[in-house]
Amino acid sequence: MTTVIDRTSGGGPPSEEIHPLYQKRKAIYPKLAHGDFRNLKWGLMILLLGIYYGLPWVRWPRPAGAPDQAVMIDFAHGRFYFFMFDLWPDEVYYFTGLLVVAALGLFLTTAWLGRLWCGYACPQTVWTDLFLYVERLFEGDRTRRMRAATQPMTAQKALKKLGKHTVWLLIAAATGGAWIFYFNDAPTFWQAAIAGQASVAAYLFFGVLTFTTYMLAGTMREQVCVYMCPWPRFQGAMIDKHSLQVTYRYDRGEPRSAHRKGDTWEGRGDCIDCKQCVVVCPMGIDIREGSQLECINCALCIDACDEIMIKIERPTGLIGYDSDEAVAARAKGETPSYRFIRPRTVFYAVALTIVGGLMIWGFLLRTPFQLHVARDRNPLFVRLSDGAIRNSYTVKLVNRLYTVKTFKVRVVGLTDPKLQSPGLKPVGDTVSAPVEPGASRDVRLLVTLPQQALTEAMKPLVIEASVDGQVIDAKSVFISEGGKP
Ligand code: SF4
Ligand code: SF4
Repeated sequence: MTTVIDRTSGGGPPSEEIHPLYQKRKAIYPKLAHGDFRNLKWGLMILLLGIYYGLPWVRWPRPAGAPDQAVMIDFAHGRFYFFMFDLWPDEVYYFTGLLVVAALGLFLTTAWLGRLWCGYACPQTVWTDLFLYVERLFEGDRTRRMRAATQPMTAQKALKKLGKHTVWLLIAAATGGAWIFYFNDAPTFWQAAIAGQASVAAYLFFGVLTFTTYMLAGTMREQVCVYMCPWPRFQGAMIDKHSLQVTYRYDRGEPRSAHRKGDTWEGRGDCIDCKQCVVVCPMGIDIREGSQLECINCALCIDACDEIMIKIERPTGLIGYDSDEAVAARAKGETPSYRFIRPRTVFYAVALTIVGGLMIWGFLLRTPFQLHVARDRNPLFVRLSDGAIRNSYTVKLVNRLYTVKTFKVRVVGLTDPKLQSPGLKPVGDTVSAPVEPGASRDVRLLVTLPQQALTEAMKPLVIEASVDGQVIDAKSVFISEGGKP
């Protein structure tokens, strides 16, 4: 089975290569690029890896015996802790909302700026960059690595490879370990793991994550983006001719040819066919062939080409962030225009605003207390010896705060109800129920109405709880046989 890759949408020379669905990997030896984008990527790499490895060690004191880890997923107690917030299992919709917001944000940035995520922040890109850095440390830059690949194995070469793979494995182990720290108290778990006292599941996850990190970032690299990740296939739906992407400005570069110092620039393009944009590319492609599925928009070819342009004293930006529309317009001698407000960007922005707004609104209205009522159905009611009717309810009270809170529960909507609750003493028409910090409590509520108050077979009521000046309630009904004696 074959796939035709369209390389023409970038405006470069048309190409209709037939690619097999899977090709044997050709080794890529990307040369180290120098420039603003490379520096930006170094900075982002340090920041993102620093956050990933460091976050489980950040402490955030919480009272009432709650974990003091700033970010932690506590499966045992069903909590997600994130600094001053903690989410309960029934609030999982916040995660769903967050995923929708992240997806819409990704759609919007892709429509505007192409594969920004792939080029700068995707874990595959960041860890591959780190592994390549280690590879260069041990085996040198592109030329030395390419030369070494064709030479027979020597003790020195073996030592370099051993050093590289050892550091890769250490990074992979740190990556797998850090992931597990997010699910446990990091300092405690670290000590237990070192002492061989962590659970089998923890060691299993650690092994799997270490192995996958080593494989994906160390050996598979660009193949993950080309063959495993679905995003390059989806992004075509978000990108159009107005999207800003890393683009070879063929209107300026062509016709390309080698150039000697002192030769005229008349009648030719600025591209001197030095292929520096190709040799720095971690995906091993030539940006001059136009927009390609493999291109992760890492912008390293911009740095490489700018360096050349400076050397040959031509304006920089032969490769840069540009839109297909603008390049095509310049090629026709027209003034290019850039359109950021387009139907698709408006749609994504509106959807993002609505979902993001709903999330913020929901979060602002979030209350630390909850009340749920379940009415006993078997029996529906009990007739007492004096003819009064009793209904039973289970009232679940939730206290998400870190101190004990007393819920004052009462029934609204009935005439002269008598409240009882096993283990709790009613005061007037109210039952007071203390609830432990970060816990829930089921309170049995027995509501009795005298016979003369039984006018309807089904009387709506509200069970109300006041706590800390807040009132929360839930609707239910009182069932009887109406006025029947
Ligand atoms: S073509 Fe340029 S932007 Fe695309 S992956 Fe290669 S170096 Fe990065
Ligand atoms: S680096 Fe610039 S000048 Fe050299 S081949 Fe690439 S586009 Fe042409």
